[in-house]
Amino acid sequence: MDTNLNTIKIQDSLSCSDFQKQVDDVLIRHKSILDITTKLNEYTNRINRAVAKSVTSCGCIEVHATRQNYNMDSLNEAKNIMKSHIEGELCPNCKEIIEEEIGTCMFYLSALCNVLDIDLSEAIIKEYNNIKTLGIFSLK
Ligand SMILES: [Zn+2]
Repeated sequence: MDTNLNTIKIQDSLSCSDFQKQVDDVLIRHKSILDITTKLNEYTNRINRAVAKSVTSCGCIEVHATRQNYNMDSLNEAKNIMKSHIEGELCPNCKEIIEEEIGTCMFYLSALCNVLDIDLSEAIIKEYNNIKTLGIFSLK
């Protein structure tokens, strides 16, 4: 068993490639693409559930959703008008839970990249370049 327990601190940076390699080193039990895709889906749902529990159980954030009113003729203006519908801030406990779910989701996303021989960093760079080129017209 690998006894390398070197951890990195939050303020350190971690490359996608290092994360993807570490995922590859430790993923054994759920190595099947079927396990990976269903686990990825499960953890996406767990993120949504954790956000919902921040509203309905903790109450540190509230959702006040209304119709988004924006003018497609002025996308720059629309960007400033569009609302997240969130009021309040995540408390430290809810933030920690959501971060854990996002981390696990990233684990299975990296695992998916590994079994399909996709470099996560390259995927992110391609997306970055796409949104950088299209700018506000990417309409995401
Ligand atoms: Zn909370």
